[in-house]
Amino acid sequence: MSNHPLILEGKPIAAAMRSEVAARVAELTAGGRRPPKLVAVLAGDDPASKTYVASKTKACADAGMASESRRLAADTPRETLLAEIAGLNADPSVDGVLVQLPLPAHLPEREILEAVAPEKDVDGFHPENVGRLWSAKPGGELDGLTPATPTGVIEMLRRYDVEISGRHAVVVGRSNIVGKPMAALLLRESCTVTVCHSRTRDLPAVCRLADLLVVAVGHTAMVGPEHVREGAVVVDVGINRVTDAAAAERLYPGDARRRAGFEKRGYTLAGDIDYHRVAPRCAAITPVPGGVGQLTVAQLLVNTLAAYRRREAGAADAG
Ligand code: NAP
Repeated sequence: MSNHPLILEGKPIAAAMRSEVAARVAELTAGGRRPPKLVAVLAGDDPASKTYVASKTKACADAGMASESRRLAADTPRETLLAEIAGLNADPSVDGVLVQLPLPAHLPEREILEAVAPEKDVDGFHPENVGRLWSAKPGGELDGLTPATPTGVIEMLRRYDVEISGRHAVVVGRSNIVGKPMAALLLRESCTVTVCHSRTRDLPAVCRLADLLVVAVGHTAMVGPEHVREGAVVVDVGINRVTDAAAAERLYPGDARRRAGFEKRGYTLAGDIDYHRVAPRCAAITPVPGGVGQLTVAQLLVNTLAAYRRREAGAADAG
């Protein structure tokens, strides 16, 4: 049993990614070029969405990029949101456009996401980018934009030198935001990929086949030691709030820092993995918080810079 797994910390990786982007942006602006620009569109007043948008725009500013958030009322008509997106698509100073999810219920998510110009779709949700991802050659160049969270996971594994080619990866969750693009990216890395979901029979047995287990289900500590093969690498994408003190203590027994944080905020963040019981079985594992969550915004900056470079290269070719 490996009692001391490698802890895959997201923070240093995210910091490195952000400073690399900042250095590149500084080079561009020092050379008299405009900085890349991201615009986040937020419809409604969801507090978590507001926090996410604020952290994304701040991260852009910290990296020397331009950023803006466009706030629209919760009852914004579909046509108004589509017109907003069309305006951003047509604006040559905007490189990245993201529409913060979830949208208010009356807005058609699919139609809205498809309205974003594929070359500005820094979330990688447009069907053109989804298609480019699934048709990418193994190990070859990615010529579209890919969703930030799973792309950040691949980047973290790469930077920690976790060898995954030829290994069996099991992804639990099949959302368009995490599970499916994660599977496509792992396939491109030459993993053998199994995707599980709520209808999967005998989930623990399937998960135990994994050399690399990636979990994105949104259920606190759902994955326990019975799901994890000894020596596996485990990536926890889940971010869940635990507001019950007894449950928090059960999940993180004797963790004084957690307890202090819980007392201050009234909750602690937990992943989809039962970390305390699973970690001793693993070769490597991501913590929550401080794991995958850190990478999403960093990868969004990388995507915005990539969108900028492609657009600038396209403009140069056209000119
Ligand atoms: P989602 O859209 O709700 O998808 C959840 C997936 O999990 C679905 O495919 C569902 O299966 C599957 N699932 C649910 N219960 C299951 C069960 N008992 N057994 C097996 N599979 C089950 O969620 P998401 O957007 O992918 O997010 C997943 C988690 O990741 C959430 O905690 C979210 O907060 C977190 N997240 C974190 C980041 C980050 O930056 N780190 C980014 C995005 C999401 P069906 O398809 O059959 O319903």
